[in-house]
Amino acid sequence: MIDDYEEKINILTETIHANQKILLELPEKEKKVCFLSDLSNEFIALSRREDIYDYIINICAKLFPESANGMLFIFQKNKSALSLARSFKNQKFVIKEKYGDVIDKWVMKHNQSIAIDDLTRDFRFGYDSVTAFQERGSRCFIASPISIGERLYGIVRLESTLAGAFNVGSSRLLYSICNLAAVVMERAELFEIIEELATKDALTGLFLREYFLGRLKVEIKRARIKKSAVGLIMIDIDDFKNINDTYGHIVGDLVLKKLARVFVKTLAQPGNMACRFGGEEFLLMLVETDRQDTISVAEKIRKEVEEMVISFRRKQIRFAISGGCAFYPEDSTDILDLVEKADSLLYKAKTTGKNKICF
Ligand code: GH3
Ligand code: MG
Ligand code: MG
Repeated sequence: MIDDYEEKINILTETIHANQKILLELPEKEKKVCFLSDLSNEFIALSRREDIYDYIINICAKLFPESANGMLFIFQKNKSALSLARSFKNQKFVIKEKYGDVIDKWVMKHNQSIAIDDLTRDFRFGYDSVTAFQERGSRCFIASPISIGERLYGIVRLESTLAGAFNVGSSRLLYSICNLAAVVMERAELFEIIEELATKDALTGLFLREYFLGRLKVEIKRARIKKSAVGLIMIDIDDFKNINDTYGHIVGDLVLKKLARVFVKTLAQPGNMACRFGGEEFLLMLVETDRQDTISVAEKIRKEVEEMVISFRRKQIRFAISGGCAFYPEDSTDILDLVEKADSLLYKAKTTGKNKICF
């Protein structure tokens, strides 16, 4: 799976280089293009979304001094909607079109660049329906989709209050930037998928053991400096084999997913995390906590699970969990010792009646 994504990334990187070459071959008189081809080396070095957004907006502010304002909208796939991610402005105002203006929606719908010389003379848009015109008198626009084929990543829109502020060269330049941006953004998305695959369990969405233990190491180091405590909770589902045997593995998987959701909800505080330690065993980490706080979190989870009813094909499924808690630095300063301690207390919970937390 990861190999497939890596292959895709290699292909995209080649595409980026090919795009660069095209830009380099454009006429010399396009000074801006030369400038862009220099900068595109920096562009392709970016692999994180936020850095890419920053780069796009900064490069547009630099390359289009004729524009009064510029906006980068990101297309949110799950909502099928645009959302303002970055902007630059040479006037003082609040951008009201956070989810795109009529023009951006046109670009989104047609997946096509647009140039409007003078909005008040353009037959495609009633100027009274364009927020940018109503709010700040913008009447000249260029906008381009950041897209590869059908897949839209976002839109860049530049505007000016002067009719005819942008020429054909400006439109082409914006189009080229957006094409380059699309490839870099697609690559960033693949990097994210790879990272997710390498760090998260596909069934529960919880972190994998190795990644978790690495983070635990970092948090313990931090706790040593800050003189704070870290709590560990090892959790195992009671009689899970029975659930699988009675209702089937699909229900077993559903139970694992529901339990993971309880963990995520209960560990809401940043820095806290949960991992799937193995089959139906989980390890939870609480930072900047104390003994009592960790125990009450474990108890809260145990109780919530005890009261939870999962409905599946008219069957009502109930289950329970047992847990063991260990604390840094109280129980040990060594990670493996701590995990072992939590595990032995979990064993104690199992051998003394289950559906309980031992500490
Ligand atoms: P105990 O109360 O002592 O923990 O008993 P148990 O039945 O939960 O423990 P046991 O170790 O005997 O069984 C664990 C079961 O978990 C066996 C295995 O098939 C099941 N299991 C492990 N991973 C998965 C999974 O991803 N999905 C499903 N459905 N079952 C799983
Ligand atoms: Mg079990
Ligand atoms: Mg087990």
